[in-house]
Amino acid sequence: MPNVIYDYGKCNGNASCAEVCPVNILEESENGRWCKPIDEKVENEEAVKQFHEEVEESETQLDVTIENDMPECIQCMACVASCPEDAIQIE
Ligand code: SF4
Ligand code: SF4
Repeated sequence: MPNVIYDYGKCNGNASCAEVCPVNILEESENGRWCKPIDEKVENEEAVKQFHEEVEESETQLDVTIENDMPECIQCMACVASCPEDAIQIE
């Protein structure tokens, strides 16, 4: 299953990853400072939910990397190519 890995220590929140994803499984955080996989689209939702909440509530960049199992990811690598901070990996 595709693993979409976000490094929130690098993310600047410019939202280009969410804009280019052809299957719309990424979104801007509620506070507009981050992008992240849409919770409902993550297979291991419970495992990553606490980290997503932590990211949502933070006013500063967090030194945390979150691995998201995303069955709908087609591994097109568009998000990786669009990211100016090298903050996303797809495995
Ligand atoms: S690799 Fe493609 S399909 Fe997967 S999250 Fe990134 S942009 Fe979306
Ligand atoms: S493209 Fe990169 S820097 Fe921009 S919101 Fe997505 S992960 Fe963060």
